[in-house]
Amino acid sequence: MKIFKFGGASLKDADNILNVVNIIQNYANTKKLLVVVSAMGKTTNAIEAILKNYWGNENYEQNIVALEKYHFDVAHQLQQKNAFKEEDFEDLKRVFLELRLDLQHWQRHAHKEMVYDQIVSYGEIISSRLVFAVLKNKEVSIEWLDARKVIRTDATWREGRVDWEQTSRNIQYLRPILQEKTIITQGFIGRTAEGHTTTLGREGSDYTGAIFAAALSAESQTIWKDVAGVLNADPKQFEFATLFDKLSYEESASLTYYGASVIHPKTIAPLRQAGIPLLVKSFLQPQDVGTYIGEIPNQEDLRAVIVKEKQVWLAFRPTTWQYLREEEVAEILTTCSGLALKVNLICKGAFILNILTEDRPEKLALLANRFSFQQDKNCTLVTKMGMKDFGNLWDKSKGKVLLELKEPDFQQFVVQF
Ligand code: ASP
Ligand code: MG
Repeated sequence: MKIFKFGGASLKDADNILNVVNIIQNYANTKKLLVVVSAMGKTTNAIEAILKNYWGNENYEQNIVALEKYHFDVAHQLQQKNAFKEEDFEDLKRVFLELRLDLQHWQRHAHKEMVYDQIVSYGEIISSRLVFAVLKNKEVSIEWLDARKVIRTDATWREGRVDWEQTSRNIQYLRPILQEKTIITQGFIGRTAEGHTTTLGREGSDYTGAIFAAALSAESQTIWKDVAGVLNADPKQFEFATLFDKLSYEESASLTYYGASVIHPKTIAPLRQAGIPLLVKSFLQPQDVGTYIGEIPNQEDLRAVIVKEKQVWLAFRPTTWQYLREEEVAEILTTCSGLALKVNLICKGAFILNILTEDRPEKLALLANRFSFQQDKNCTLVTKMGMKDFGNLWDKSKGKVLLELKEPDFQQFVVQF
């Protein structure tokens, strides 16, 4: 049994969806398969924009209409290719009606993070219903699963923590179904014990794939991307970028930690624990092998350059003339952890503590309620691994270097633009 995960880019238009369906069809005829999809194209961002207007008491209906049009246009194109039927439109209409009703229902609810999850999850519901319809029309023996029925999380909104035991138990009922049919479900979403929808963190669908893979002891998980696999740098920024044909779990986890966005960072641990390989392949060139990630020895000299953008450099200084104590550092870090604010680099001096975090203004505002600190925005963390013949590839003159860390084969710098 295999797990396939398709992200937003692979589902962004009718042609891409037909390509995805083709990949699924080629496989589903002969093997057991569970498919995880995320929202189509930039839908999650579009729903975030709906919420911004909704909370700002602006007209959000126009945003819904645009999102609806995008999905219906894709559906009409699929219909022209005999892949979408008149009755399938009813299903889509119903989901958009539910979205509107839910927005009305939660209007006066004060807990925005909670409402965020109830609404943003619609992106995945819509895409999975749409792709399900196409698969059904192509006569794939397919069943649609609401992932929230099985993925149990706590109530950490926007970053739901998975209850592995309960989730794994819930997933077992799928085993006999998978003997007969392919299952299609959503990435990124789960449900609390009280029945509220949660999300697992932006780009979290890869992680959902890993949860299903582990619970079902899958033979592998494949993440289908618009790139050839895991590269050692972003090809848009670095000409030398090349594909890794193999990586160990540890190497791939390090790369994602430093910011390689090709795989969601939470994906590797559950696969590693269950000993399930992860394949990262191109949905445009499905016959190519891509990158294999598994239980293999680390390479002698792993070389990569990883650029992590949208960071902020925080500077905490003691309020009185004294050294910054470890207790204060611990308190600051504990607060970051409580806010689920990701800390990517720490540097302590006599009278200063610098922390590089992701730029999440709402969380930083909460942090500022407790501590005073200075913020340098628009920062980027550049990590170079295995420096040997990489030369001087990051043009420092483009920005101001706030920190540089040098080890023989590992270098990091924080650059502000
Ligand atoms: N649709 C969600 C997002 O864009 C989850 C995902 O793509 O994995 O963050
Ligand atoms: Mg997405």
